[in-house]
Amino acid sequence: MPSKNESVLNPKTTKYEFLGPIGAFLMITVLPILTCVLHLSCQFDDNPSRHWVEGTQLRDGSKLKYKVNGFYSMILTLFIIISILNTKGHEPLLFIDDHFIGLITSSIIVAFILSLYVYLASFQEGKLLALGGNSGNIIYDFMIGRELNPRIGSFDIKCFVELRPGLICWTVVNIAMAIKQYHELGYVTIGMFLILIFQGWYCIDAVYNEPAVLTTMDITTDGFGWMLSFGNFTWVGFLYALQARYLALHPVHLSRLQITFIICLQAIGYAIFRGANNEKNYFRNNPEDPRVKHLKYITTEAGSRLIISGWWGRARHINYLGDWLISWAWCLLCGFDDIIPYFYVVYFAVLLIHREFRDEEKCRNKYKKDWDRYCEIVKWRIIP
Ligand code: NDP
Repeated sequence: MPSKNESVLNPKTTKYEFLGPIGAFLMITVLPILTCVLHLSCQFDDNPSRHWVEGTQLRDGSKLKYKVNGFYSMILTLFIIISILNTKGHEPLLFIDDHFIGLITSSIIVAFILSLYVYLASFQEGKLLALGGNSGNIIYDFMIGRELNPRIGSFDIKCFVELRPGLICWTVVNIAMAIKQYHELGYVTIGMFLILIFQGWYCIDAVYNEPAVLTTMDITTDGFGWMLSFGNFTWVGFLYALQARYLALHPVHLSRLQITFIICLQAIGYAIFRGANNEKNYFRNNPEDPRVKHLKYITTEAGSRLIISGWWGRARHINYLGDWLISWAWCLLCGFDDIIPYFYVVYFAVLLIHREFRDEEKCRNKYKKDWDRYCEIVKWRIIP
């Protein structure tokens, strides 16, 4: 017979069980709709210009404006989650673990519908296509993304999907996994607590520094297709929550020394990652910005300047190194009993190395001999 305490902490089913797969589908469609409504409506002061940021120059010489209020969308979603926890208790969030497969399947369906829409819409006249996504091969173009900046009015689909539904879903799934662990154990382990802080920080930091996404490859170069749609809705939203899900099902107890080491690793990784990304972003937006005015650079025939000191003088993709160190910190929190949580560092290394090759090729084509000159000054690729 289970004790009274056990039956309260560890019920076999929740009262939301009856919602089943349809509930899972509705939940997945509600999240993008909610983030979309927040995106369109959020404005927290009376100065609209603070919410609109100009992107980098496009091939046709124009510049697009982007609404940046991801941080507020994230905070409001967290507020909604806290309100649900306060009023309805843990059960609504336990639904996420109970229906994990249904939720993932639903997110794949949503990602597919969106990529199909942007693929078909890209054939309208006057659309600016991505250079790499216009091969004529239907499957390839559908995957990679045909149109560079699919928009409905001023609503930029790619920029929205890059930072909103995936990162917000990942944060919500992590919280749900912590609740699940609490339900099973009666407490939350330090590892789970740190995952919530580290990954929550990563997501909140990304939406707080939303303008930085405008100078990344995804926005400036890649089209929006299945890869980014599935990547953000499903891969980021659910697979990136792997460590939290693992810890919910297999709690791990770490020593103080291990925890101290992991915290230091996370801090070093974050300092490199955020330092490098901000440096480039500030510089590209305004080279006279006092935060980056001191940096050395070379001018290029293509018009852009390439930084050759500071973070970008150490390696050509030092930002990837920071991101990879962070991914190690997350996996190490899962201990050493299983290899499964380490899938993330391996996958991420492959992603970053492949991305580095792609970006190198893009920059070599764009900057030609100026890129050779740059590579002679900044010799290292990712690790200095
Ligand atoms: P980067 O932010 O590294 O941007 C690359 C571009 O920056 C180049 O194409 C070039 O563009 C410009 N550039 C290159 N060198 C210089 C320089 N010396 N000075 C000024 N500009 C330069 O690319 P990503 O979009 O790949 O990465 C952004 C961040 O996102 C990274 O930190 C990465 O780790 C992270 N990321 C995370 C993922 C995840 O799943 N967690 C997935 C992918 C990325 P231009 O043509 O303008 O010169």
